[in-house]
Amino acid sequence: MDFRVATSKRLSGDGGPLGGSIVADTGSRLSLYETAPNVEVSLEEFEQFALDRLRVLKGIEEVRARRKRLEELDTVVIDLWRKHMRTPNAADLNKKDVVSHFVLRLAYCRTEELRRWFLAMESALFRHRFRCESSDSQRKLMDDYKLPFKAISVAEFEVLKDKLGQVCRSLNQPLPTADSAYYKVPFEEVPDLVANRKILLGGGHAFVPREQLALLVVGQFRTRLSKALVLTNRKWTSVCAEDEKDRLAPIVESLSTRYLGADYTQPDSKRDISSKDLDNLAKTSFPLCMHHLFKKLREDHHLRHGGRQQLGLFLKGIGLKLEDALAFWKNEFSHKIGPDKFDKEYAYNVRHNYGKEGKKTDYTPYSCVRIIMSTPGVGDHHGCPYRHFSEENLRATLGTLRLSTPAVAEVLEKVRSHHYQLACATAFEAIHGSPSEGINHPNQYFDQSQKLLQSVKSSEVSAAN
Ligand code: SF4
Repeated sequence: MDFRVATSKRLSGDGGPLGGSIVADTGSRLSLYETAPNVEVSLEEFEQFALDRLRVLKGIEEVRARRKRLEELDTVVIDLWRKHMRTPNAADLNKKDVVSHFVLRLAYCRTEELRRWFLAMESALFRHRFRCESSDSQRKLMDDYKLPFKAISVAEFEVLKDKLGQVCRSLNQPLPTADSAYYKVPFEEVPDLVANRKILLGGGHAFVPREQLALLVVGQFRTRLSKALVLTNRKWTSVCAEDEKDRLAPIVESLSTRYLGADYTQPDSKRDISSKDLDNLAKTSFPLCMHHLFKKLREDHHLRHGGRQQLGLFLKGIGLKLEDALAFWKNEFSHKIGPDKFDKEYAYNVRHNYGKEGKKTDYTPYSCVRIIMSTPGVGDHHGCPYRHFSEENLRATLGTLRLSTPAVAEVLEKVRSHHYQLACATAFEAIHGSPSEGINHPNQYFDQSQKLLQSVKSSEVSAAN
């Protein structure tokens, strides 16, 4: 979207971060988001639309981890879309779609890692939406964007029918009928299909059945979006971030680390956790990031600021009361620096996190995204092990959790594809022997783990009775 600094609370699109012409893309429900929309958007809409789309993309990330069949994923993705992207007036849906895409493009263009995630999730969203469109609307999209894929006419089909049948027979597929839709595509667009001889070639074209079309169109979508993200980043960092530093930049910059689930600010009042319970809980229910910090604290009797914050807020979120937290940190730090120094230099910070000092803000435990995006330095122990450990170090650490060799291999595979939360969910499943609901927050990991352990305990008790 082309956002210009507006004098009022409404923003209009004529000259801004993304450049280009400004024609609202409303001709087709599905868009390749080539041009920014010429619409006015309030600051509230700017943020809310983006958050709603983010919920869809995060949902896609979660369901993709469960390796569902393509058809099942279609249904889930369309449900997510309907749930989060609906608007009071159906006519506003296109506006919300395009605006939210362009706002997130700004938020996710800023680093290679963010670009990679956004590209993967947007391409998946596009793919499922495209697959669920009617042939007419698929055709319209291809015409609108002049994609080099043309449906063949009935006359062309009659001419090619026998040869298409031969290809189908060689692939053990049903023979084509007059209702089968085929598309004529420049053969250089489908090198894999050509190399595997899975396609009829003729006159410089490949004849691709409709079922394969989504892959080709998604390829176009991905290439265009990938280039656009790089350009947007250049423009945002060189001009717009400074121009918009007081208004849009804070929203844009916070979106990529925004966690959309429960925030765990209030300690869990139903749980009565004291510092005596922590060793056991660390073994059974801490995610690796907190397990590692806890272990380092026990070994070194010290953690640097980033580690104290990450672990301290997590402990608050699981239900450790302020008095217990003070006793716990003091006990550890006193080994090294003595109790007086702790009272003078560190106790304030613990009380501060519980909203008892300074601005009296009740600080929120960090989400996975925030932890993954952190940049621990030498001597720091905070961060996400799946993101920040070397492969060797991670393999060794997973070994101490008694993960089986295939489970470790699966975790490492996810890490190599930069799916850190999925790697964490895989470790959770291997440790607990039960599927995870997806991991977005260390405190959510803890809650899921405790719930499972409690239900195992209850069933053991009822079996014993
Ligand atoms: Fe912690 Fe989240 Fe990383 Fe798991 S994915 S280790 S919960 S930051």
